[in-house]
Amino acid sequence: MHLLAILLAATAVSDTTPIRCADCDAWNAPQEPFRIYGDTYYVGPRGLSSVLIDSGKGLILIDGGLPQSAKLVAASVRKLGFELRDVRWILNSHAHFDHAGGMAALQRMTGAKVGASPAGTRALKTGNAAPDDPQAGFGEAMRYPPVRNVEPIADGATVTVGGVTVTAHHTPGHTPGGTTWTWRSCEGDRCADVVFAESLTAIAAPGFRYAADTARVAQFRRSIATIRALPCDVLILTHPSGRFFEQLEASAREGRTAFLDSSACRAYADRGDASLSQRLRDEAAGKTP
Ligand SMILES: [Zn+2]
Repeated sequence: MHLLAILLAATAVSDTTPIRCADCDAWNAPQEPFRIYGDTYYVGPRGLSSVLIDSGKGLILIDGGLPQSAKLVAASVRKLGFELRDVRWILNSHAHFDHAGGMAALQRMTGAKVGASPAGTRALKTGNAAPDDPQAGFGEAMRYPPVRNVEPIADGATVTVGGVTVTAHHTPGHTPGGTTWTWRSCEGDRCADVVFAESLTAIAAPGFRYAADTARVAQFRRSIATIRALPCDVLILTHPSGRFFEQLEASAREGRTAFLDSSACRAYADRGDASLSQRLRDEAAGKTP
């Protein structure tokens, strides 16, 4: 190889080149994959949810973590006995580097289609937060490998693989394209409504004010109400909660019914409402940067 080519290869930015951030190493800590309920499995690193659904006739993956998470997610899928080439769809909660950063690599590894809301689709193709994203002002720090082929999925539309149907619920607020995904997973004759819920955290870059756009605040409240009203037995958050790992521990003793909690979405919506209200109070008091 020519010396220049060697140097280029050594410095090339690939779709798994790690993104550095204050929380990135903790988020990307290793985590053994495990069955959550029925045909639904956890394949993400410790702090970034990736969920695999096995239809028996192909797999659906939700979220890809950071670029450096992609290899961990792929290894977890294989460790559970599945083949990467059987992943038919990779769906996205929202187009931020910590949940979409690994999707380009995972699409390359699996050949799967990628699906997101129309607004999420536009952002994923740019590999950046959308211009109207509350965190867009963080600029270059928001970049991740763009996902070239993304299919927009309308609010209420479904993605079906084998006997598994996943429904998109557009829940904008944290980002303009935020999406919550729901499906049913069964253990024997007991079926559970599973919810992969979009982030409800009202975080923004310096200078951004939610209160400056009442339509945006109303839309965020509607998203919270949507999640509150969902049939919901198993709740999975984009960053798994402490409660989720408590449920994992309990499941070792009690079985996977430990993951069932039909009040989880309502409690999560309450926290989202409280966080948005606090953000609006902080903005009004001049306490936000
Ligand atoms: Zn985010």
